[in-house]
Amino acid sequence: MHLMLWLLKVSFSLAVLLFEGLCWGLTGLLQVVRLAGEVRGARQRLQGGLHCPRGHAVSAFGTFECTLCQFRWTGSGWVCPNPACEATTPFLACPVCRASVRNPYIYEGGNVREVR
Ligand SMILES: [Zn+2]
Ligand SMILES: [Zn+2]
Repeated sequence: MHLMLWLLKVSFSLAVLLFEGLCWGLTGLLQVVRLAGEVRGARQRLQGGLHCPRGHAVSAFGTFECTLCQFRWTGSGWVCPNPACEATTPFLACPVCRASVRNPYIYEGGNVREVR
C-alpha cells in the first residue's frame, strides 16, 4: 500500500514537472519568436523601410533644418548634427500625404523639420 502511494506521488510530481517544463518551454519559444520579430523589425527600420500609415515609402534621409538652432544638413533627419544642439525628432512627414511617421528610435523631442 505504501509503495502504491509512493508510486502515485512520484508519478504525480513527474506529471506536474513535465507539464511545467512544457509550459516553460512554450513560453521560451514564444519569447524567441517575439525576439525574432523584433530583430526583423529593427532590420527593416535600419534599411530605411519606413512607411506612413497610407503605405507611402518615407525616407529618413534628406535635407533637414533644425527648428531649434536653424542648422541645415543633408543626411538622416532623426537628429540634428549640430554638436551644440543634437535635437532629435519623434516623427517625420510623409513626402506624399504629409502624414507623420514615428521615429523608431526615439519617441520624444521634436525639433527637426525637413526642407525640400
Ligand atoms: Zn539643432
Ligand atoms: Zn503618405
